[in-house]
Amino acid sequence: MLVLDRRGKPLMPTTPRRARQLLRSGRARVHRVQPFVLRIVDRRVEDSETEPLVLGIDPGFRHTGVALAREQEVPDPRSGRATTIRHGLFLLRVDHRGAVIRDRLSARSALRRGRRSRKLRYRAPRFDNRARAAGWLAPSIRHRAETTVTWARRLAAWAPVTRIDLEVPRFDARALHRADAAVGDRGQGTLHGTEVREYVLERDGRTCVYCGASGLGAASVPLTLDHVRARAHGGPDAPANLVAACVPCNRDKGDREVEEYLARRPAVLARVRRSLASVVQQDLSVSVSRSALCRALQSVGPEVRTHSGGRTKWNRSRAGLPWDHVTDALCVGRVDAIASLPALQHVAVSMGRGSYSRTRMDRYGFPRLRLTRRKMHHGLITGDLVRAVVPSGRRAGTHVGRVAVRASGSCNITTARSTVQHIGHRHITVLQRGDGYRHLRAPVALAA
Ligand SMILES: [Zn+2]
Repeated sequence: MLVLDRRGKPLMPTTPRRARQLLRSGRARVHRVQPFVLRIVDRRVEDSETEPLVLGIDPGFRHTGVALAREQEVPDPRSGRATTIRHGLFLLRVDHRGAVIRDRLSARSALRRGRRSRKLRYRAPRFDNRARAAGWLAPSIRHRAETTVTWARRLAAWAPVTRIDLEVPRFDARALHRADAAVGDRGQGTLHGTEVREYVLERDGRTCVYCGASGLGAASVPLTLDHVRARAHGGPDAPANLVAACVPCNRDKGDREVEEYLARRPAVLARVRRSLASVVQQDLSVSVSRSALCRALQSVGPEVRTHSGGRTKWNRSRAGLPWDHVTDALCVGRVDAIASLPALQHVAVSMGRGSYSRTRMDRYGFPRLRLTRRKMHHGLITGDLVRAVVPSGRRAGTHVGRVAVRASGSCNITTARSTVQHIGHRHITVLQRGDGYRHLRAPVALAA
C-alpha cells in the first residue's frame, strides 16, 4: 500500500494490515482508491525514515511492466562483495492501446481518402502543411511512451523513488533477421537463439498460432518454434519463417507446407501470414518507443539507468521467477536476488478519454445516434469510478465500478464481474474521477 504524509509527500509503502490499522485508528485518510494510496494525517516526511526505492520498467509492445522495489545491499561473507537484494513492494502492468489508436487512425484516413475522390464541389489545393516536426512519433508509439511516463511520474509522487531502471531493446532487429544463425527447435543454447526465441514468442503473444493455446497463466502449454517452411524444404531459421506453436500442433504439422496443413482453416492461415508480416513493424516501433521513452523518463526526476534485456532474463532465471511483465520489471538492472514480491499486481488498462465521433454507425454504415459534445452529465463522466446503492427493484444492491453515462442520466456500471445497465444517476456517488484507465487486480504468474 502506497503512503503519503500529511502534506502529500511520499513515505515508505506499508502492508495492507498496517494500512487497515491506520485507517481504523483514524490516523490515515484514503487519498486515492485505485491504486490504493493512503495519507497519514499526523506524520511528516521529515520525521520519518525513508529508504531508497527503485522503479524497474520493462516496456513492451502491448504491456509494460513496472515494479517498485526496496533495494538492500548485503555483504556476502564468502566473497566479501556486496550482493543486491530486492523486495518487491508494488507491481503494475500497463496495458497499452496502440493497436486501437492505429486502427482508428487508418479508418479515419481511409474515410477521408474516399471523401476526397467523391464528386463534390471544387476545392482549391491546400498549401503544403504536411511537414512533420523533428522527433515526430506515430501516435500509437507516442501513446506507449506517454502512458509509461505517466505511471512513472505517479509512482514517483506516491513513493520515495530514487532511481529508475529501464530495460532497453531486447531485440536487435537486424541481427535477428540474419537467416544464417543457428536457432534449433526450441531456440535454446546460444544467446542469439534465445533472443530469436524470445522475439518470436513476444511477437506471437505467447500463444500457439495454430490452435491458440496460451503459454501463459495456470493452464499454460509449453511453446516451441515452428518452421513455417520446414527446414527439410530449405526454410531458414529466421523470425520471418518462425512462429510460436504448441508441441502437438508442431508435431501435427511436421514437414508439410503451411498452405497444405491449413488448407481447411483459411482464417488461421491468414493469421499466420499476418503474424509473419508483422515482424519488422513491431520491433521497429518497440525500439523507437523505447528510445523516446528513455528521453521522456529523464523528466520524471530520479536518475534513469538503462540495462539490457538479456540481463533481465538472466536475473529472473537466477531468482527462479516465472515469466511475467511485472517479474521482468522487478529483475531489470543489477540485482542478485529477489527476496519477496506481492501476490497481486495492479493492472491499468488504457481506455482513452472518449471519442470525437459525433455519431455511431449501424452495421450498414448509416448514422444511428447523435452524440452530445458534453462529456459530463449529472456530475458524472464516462470512466469515473463510482459506487451505486440501489435501494429497490431488479438492480437492488451496491455496485462499484466504472460508469458509462447517458445524457438521460441512466448509467451503466461495469463491475469486476459484469455490467449493470440502467442505473439512475441519483443512486450514484463518485469514488474517483476517471484517469483514462480501467483498474484491475490480477495474480502474478505463478506457473512458469
Ligand atoms: Zn497448438
